[in-house]
Amino acid sequence: MSMEKKKVLILGANGFIGSSLVWKILKQTNYDVVGFDISDGKLSNVLGRDRFTFCKTDVLKNKSDVEQAVKDCDIVLPLIAVATPALYVKDPVKVYNLDFESNVEVIKMCLKYGKRVVFPSTSEVYGMCPDEAFDEYESPLVLGPIPKERWIYSCIKQMLDRLIWAYGKHEGLSFTLFRPFNFIGPRLDDIKAKAEGSSRVITQFAHNILNGKPIKLVNGGLQKRCFTFIDDGVDCLVRIILNKDGCADGKIFNIGNPDEEHSVKELAEVLIREFQNYPEYAQLAKDAVIETVSGDDYYGQGYQDAQRRVPSIEQAKSILGWAPTTDFKTSIKLILDYHLLGKDYEAGL
Ligand code: UDP
Repeated sequence: MSMEKKKVLILGANGFIGSSLVWKILKQTNYDVVGFDISDGKLSNVLGRDRFTFCKTDVLKNKSDVEQAVKDCDIVLPLIAVATPALYVKDPVKVYNLDFESNVEVIKMCLKYGKRVVFPSTSEVYGMCPDEAFDEYESPLVLGPIPKERWIYSCIKQMLDRLIWAYGKHEGLSFTLFRPFNFIGPRLDDIKAKAEGSSRVITQFAHNILNGKPIKLVNGGLQKRCFTFIDDGVDCLVRIILNKDGCADGKIFNIGNPDEEHSVKELAEVLIREFQNYPEYAQLAKDAVIETVSGDDYYGQGYQDAQRRVPSIEQAKSILGWAPTTDFKTSIKLILDYHLLGKDYEAGL
C-alpha cells in the first residue's frame, strides 16, 4: 500500500476497542503502532508482529514514558477509561480520576508537541436526548440530576469533548472526536467474570446463560440500543486515522449501526436462540430463565437509563465513505464462536 508511513500511539491497547484496532491498523495500513497497557491478554494475535511495539506499563504511573511516546509518534488515541455503567454508579470518583484527569494530561501533551489526537467520546454524551437519531452538531446533550450518578461518565466525556474542541479552535490542536454506539465483539468483557453488573449487557447475558444464572432485564428490558460490531467500528476508526486529505480534522463522528436497533429483551431472546446452535451448550440455553429487576435494585439509586440511542451516521458516510456491514445475528455468531468454540475471526493478518 502506498501511503505515507505514520506512527500511531494507542494508550489502552489491550482494551476492547484498542486490541481490535491494533489488529485492524496492522491489517489495513502500513502504519507503525505503539501500544501501552497494564496487561496484554487480548493482544496475543498481534504481539511480536512487525510494526507493533508493546509497552507493558501502567500509564498512570509512568507519565514520562507516555510523554516520550507522545513526542515520538504522529497520532495519539487515549483509550484508557472505565466505560461500564455499573461502575459509574459504584465508583464515580474512580471514573473521574481515570477518565477525566489522566486524559486531560495526555490531551495537553498532544497540544504541547503538536500531535494529532483521535479521542473517544461516547454515545453516552447524548444522554436522554429525545431526538429520533442523534446528530453530532445539532442534538442536545441531556443528562439527569446530580444524584443520578450514572451520568458522571457522560458529563466527563462531554467536558473532554468541549476541551478538545476549544484547544482545536483556539490553540491549534489537531483532533477528531468519535462516538461509539454499543460496540459488541469477542473481546468486550471477560465472559467468566463472576460479578453481576461487571460487564456490558451482551457479555453479562452470555455469562448468565453459561452459568445457569437467570438473565436479568433491567426495568423490563424494553430500552433499546443500536448494537455495532467491533470490526465495523474499527474499520471506521482506521479511516479516521488515515484522515485522507485532512477530511476528519476538527470533526465529530458517531460510529454505530442505526439499522440494528434492538431492545435488551430482544437481545436476551436472540442470544438464547443462537446458543442453541452450539450442541454442547444447547441445553443450558433451553433452561435459561429471564427475570425482570428494577434499575435501583440492579445498579443502585444513582442509576438512570437512556431508553433509545440511535446514531445518525451521515457524517461518517459522507466524509469517510463508511457504513457498517455486519448485522446483529452475524455479530452474535462471531462472539459465540469465539467464546464457545475458541474461533477468532481476528486470527491472521
Ligand atoms: N442491562 C440489563 N441487564 C444486565 C445488564 C444490563 O438489562 O444484566 C441493560 C442496562 O440497564 C441498559 C442496557 O442493558 O439499559 C445496556 O447496558 P450496557 O451495560 O451494555 O451499557 P449502556 O448501553 O447502558 O451504556
